[in-house]
Amino acid sequence: MSAIEALSQLLFPTRCFGCNEIGLSICSSCRREWHPHYYSRHLSQLRVHSAVLYSATASKILLAAKENGLKGADTLIVDAIVHVLSQGSFDRHNIRLVPIPSSHSARRRRGRSFIVDISSSVSLRTGYPVADSLELVRKVRDQSGLHASARARNMQGAFALKCGAYPRGDLILIDDVVTTGATLGEAARALTSQGFHVIASVTACLAQPLR
Ligand SMILES: [Zn+2]
Repeated sequence: MSAIEALSQLLFPTRCFGCNEIGLSICSSCRREWHPHYYSRHLSQLRVHSAVLYSATASKILLAAKENGLKGADTLIVDAIVHVLSQGSFDRHNIRLVPIPSSHSARRRRGRSFIVDISSSVSLRTGYPVADSLELVRKVRDQSGLHASARARNMQGAFALKCGAYPRGDLILIDDVVTTGATLGEAARALTSQGFHVIASVTACLAQPLR
């Protein structure tokens, strides 16, 4: 550890993203809630593969990465997605990763395209190229607090192919969390309606829809 790193640890010690305890970026008890497994669900006519069940800990990790841009939290999400990609039985020759785009306002607020950044890091680890081919073409509401049918309506027609994008190969949609699959289903529809081949979605987290 360099003197500067030692000093910065002293002034800004690493804290657990889940519970704020000083020490590791995720402590052993939060690690029990954020431990990559392999879940595979059929949602919105699409196979969705995920690593961890959504929990209070998962929510804090996602927020730390998305809204605070904390590198250690990004790494936990990237690890989870890489884990799922290694578990799924994909034909690995032709895979392209397609990030789910966020809104202009979210990009401005965060100073980056969160899922594009996550997908690029996953690409470095797996060798699968990123095909950043989708854009959000209209305003959508925040989905938390919406039931399945409202989510489906909210996302209808929200995505389009970016101008000039031509994502060949077997496309895997990448997102941080799946709930009802409304977002992923719409993203898949935008691609398949143009003749592109979506084989699955991979998310870090799997959340229970509202009942
Ligand atoms: Zn913790």
